[in-house]
Amino acid sequence: MCGEASATCCGEDKLCALTCCPCNIDIEKIKALVNEPKYICKQCGRAANEEKNLCQPIPLT
Ligand SMILES: [Zn+2]
Repeated sequence: MCGEASATCCGEDKLCALTCCPCNIDIEKIKALVNEPKYICKQCGRAANEEKNLCQPIPLT
């Protein structure tokens, strides 16, 4: 258990940050952000609907 999910490991509202710690994952929140992916993060390879949720977004298409 890691107590409060203060997202201090990466900060921000990015998937890269939201998924960096197993204790920090809110799967329902993440599902809503990735169900229609249009961008992929070239740094960590995650995909998301909106570029604001990725640290290094590039368009998928
Ligand atoms: Zn990333």
